Amino acid sequence: MKIKDRVALVTGSGQGLGKAIAFALANEGAKLAINDLSLNEVKARETVSELRKIGTEAEVFLADVTQESEVNKMVEEILARFSRIDILVNNAGINRDGLIHKGNLQNWNAVMNVNLTGPFICTKAVLPGMRQNNYGRIVNISSLTARLGVSGTGYYASTKSGLIGLTKVTAVENMAKGITCNALAPGYIKTDMMMRYPEEQLQALIAKIPAGRLAEPAEIADVVVFVAADSAAYMTGAVIDINGGYFI
Ligand code: NAD
Repeated sequence: MKIKDRVALVTGSGQGLGKAIAFALANEGAKLAINDLSLNEVKARETVSELRKIGTEAEVFLADVTQESEVNKMVEEILARFSRIDILVNNAGINRDGLIHKGNLQNWNAVMNVNLTGPFICTKAVLPGMRQNNYGRIVNISSLTARLGVSGTGYYASTKSGLIGLTKVTAVENMAKGITCNALAPGYIKTDMMMRYPEEQLQALIAKIPAGRLAEPAEIADVVVFVAADSAAYMTGAVIDINGGYFI
């Protein structure tokens, strides 16, 4: 097993990609802290009961990643339950589409808060423990939209580009303490976030992907396992493209 007995916190892991990441880490021997919003408590609890069925130690920790006090309390609770946090996956994210010239500050702030301020708050909260342990793996879920201009993604792409900056600075500031930080830039994945698009729009998008299909969440989750493993100790500050050939 690549990640035996490491404790992983995956934000927004009640469903979608976060859930797939939780299972991929669990399959390699990790213990799981499943975070999500209170709004998504039912799905978070289902994820935990499914993880326990495969023999994984797992607990739900409800918190809104945009709220520093909630995140700090969650980290204290995880430390009380599991004694350490070895792996943080900043996965929680939301999307709002809109052209910049018709832009709306409320949407900008909403997306910025969850996708960029959230990872900053969570990273800041786990780093002191990781630095004390001289070990850590932080994985930030960025996006293809941070790697090339996609019309209509102004809010989202700006946050996901910012996340690459946060990744590189976290990496350089903490490498000497045995902590790595890498970003994944996935293309379009088969989760609720994509399935909300009208079928016609979805098909037009798929037509642009050389693979001819959306990614399965597990295909992205397996790459998280790679960078979260003990063996990936020399890899930090990287941005890994996983997009079915969309951006080469
Ligand atoms: P999703 O909507 O299925 O899941 C997002 C999860 O985040 C949900 O469980 C939601 O409740 C949780 N969440 C939202 N706001 C939160 C908050 N403030 N605090 C805690 N949890 C919160 O979407 P997904 O596709 O699984 O997205 C996961 C990540 O992958 C996101 O960061 C997204 O931007 C990124 N991503 C998705 C795609 C895609 O095509 N689906 C592509 C590239 C990157």
